Amino acid sequence: MDQEDKCLRCGQCCFMPDLENFVPTTTPCPYLRFDNQGKTFCSIYEHRLGTHLAPGIVCGMRYQDPLDYENCPYNTGTICYRVNRETVELLPPEK
Ligand code: SF4
Ligand code: SF4
Repeated sequence: MDQEDKCLRCGQCCFMPDLENFVPTTTPCPYLRFDNQGKTFCSIYEHRLGTHLAPGIVCGMRYQDPLDYENCPYNTGTICYRVNRETVELLPPEK
């Protein structure tokens, strides 16, 4: 599938959102796994879509997430974040 072809497996879109403030957090999805190369994978990949992750949060397709993430091939030119387990940074708009 196209979406999977381009994914860099950075995992940034798999961090839990703060639904009140509409921003990503430093807390990864409970199903996100990190390998020793700095890449990530989903431990329930085949069954991820529609899986309940936390109150009010369900796993969906990348295009359903309106945020951008640093270097993600699926960015749409909106608000862009750098997300990892230490920090969430709002990046300046791309020129
Ligand atoms: S932010 Fe983009 S590149 Fe990173 S895991 Fe998500 S879809 Fe893949
Ligand atoms: S369940 Fe969804 S949000 Fe969680 S790691 Fe898998 S793909 Fe990412």
